[in-house]
Amino acid sequence: MIVNPLSSTVIPPVAAPDLRCAWCWYVAHPGKAYPAAQSSSACRAHAQWLRQQRTKQRKGGAHHVC
Ligand SMILES: [Zn+2]
Repeated sequence: MIVNPLSSTVIPPVAAPDLRCAWCWYVAHPGKAYPAAQSSSACRAHAQWLRQQRTKQRKGGAHHVC
C-alpha cells in the first residue's frame, strides 16, 4: 500500500501503470514528490478511483453537523 504524504491517501496500484499519471508515479516512486514540470493526468483506472474518493468524501462530510 502506498500512501500519498500530501493527502494521506492510500493510492491503489493499477494493473497497467502509466507514468504520465501522477498517481501511478507515486506508486512507482514512493516518498518522492511528483515533478511539477510534468503535466499530471490520471490514467483511466485512477480517474475512476478519484471519482470514488470524491464520492466517499462527500458522504463522510455529511456527518459533520455544526
Ligand atoms: Zn494511474
